[in-house]
Amino acid sequence: MGILEDVLLNARSAVDTVGKKAGQVIDISKLRIAAADLKSEISRKYQILGRVAYEESVSGKDYSVNKAELIQKIGELKNDLDSVMELIASSGNKIKCAACGAYNSKKAVFCNKCGEKLDTAEDEHMPTDEMIDFTEDNFEDDDLL
Ligand SMILES: [Zn+2]
Repeated sequence: MGILEDVLLNARSAVDTVGKKAGQVIDISKLRIAAADLKSEISRKYQILGRVAYEESVSGKDYSVNKAELIQKIGELKNDLDSVMELIASSGNKIKCAACGAYNSKKAVFCNKCGEKLDTAEDEHMPTDEMIDFTEDNFEDDDLL
């Protein structure tokens, strides 16, 4: 089971690395890589579990301990995946400052760290309606000047 342990440790450290950054800057691309790694690890575990069940059936030996271990590890990986998906969801509601890289609230106009004007147009998750409203506000300000 040495290989399985190594893989689990790798997945764990990926989540830990991401978690430590959560208070500061969340790198969403790293989160997505971690989520993809966890997903492929879970499906690999399912394959091993299927093979263990097959071997057990063919050989008539009792592999219930191995199966229980695999099922527990799949559960742990799923928990890890859940926390990564949560981080992805929460960072999806943020706008990244182009100047300093800090994540700000979607509704923020200026970066709360460096004060740079946030380019909301760059946020792919930004609803179109809000983008239009924002632009119209700017035009109105210009007209007054
Ligand atoms: Zn900034």
